[in-house]
Amino acid sequence: MFEGKLEKLKDGFKQLPGIGEKTAERLAFYLISQDKQKGLDLAELIRDSIDSIQKCEHCNMLSEKSPCHFCADDERDNATLCVVEKSQDVYLIDETGVYNGRYFVLGNLISPLDGIGPKHINFPKLKEMIEKENIKEIILALNPSSAGETTMAFITSKLQNSARKITRLATGLPVGGDIEYTSSKTLASALTHRNEL
Ligand SMILES: [Zn+2]
Repeated sequence: MFEGKLEKLKDGFKQLPGIGEKTAERLAFYLISQDKQKGLDLAELIRDSIDSIQKCEHCNMLSEKSPCHFCADDERDNATLCVVEKSQDVYLIDETGVYNGRYFVLGNLISPLDGIGPKHINFPKLKEMIEKENIKEIILALNPSSAGETTMAFITSKLQNSARKITRLATGLPVGGDIEYTSSKTLASALTHRNEL
């Protein structure tokens, strides 16, 4: 059995998404068994990444710079705004190559059972961005899960009188599915055939 610092290291890995007991043990043991410098370099890289990454002041995307490179890019279509849950979703959508507008990261989806309400999704900032920057179409690129549906219903109801087009991702996304595990092709199709709300 692991003990002391090795046990703590294993517990640290276990907190990461997708890492179970066995994998955590393997990673912890690998780090202390191999060339020490490799492990120390990795520790330094983790510290440096955490220290240097912040939220973009415009879109909330995690980025080394603020504004992030998506907000700073003046080649993008400023009239369309794609609303996503997480920073990773921005990359997934951009990789499809079918979207060239702006982004906004909510940071959460509304889920009353988990204590996540409307105040946790940066809605006032989203509303301000839509109004100030004269956005014409808002694409809600959220998971078709119950939290995603609740969030889309909330945003749509709040923006109903704004006379802007609001769309959501179309077919191809399984109900209860997750954008993160959807192929780039399926996501591109869902974006292209988005439905108006
Ligand atoms: Zn940004």
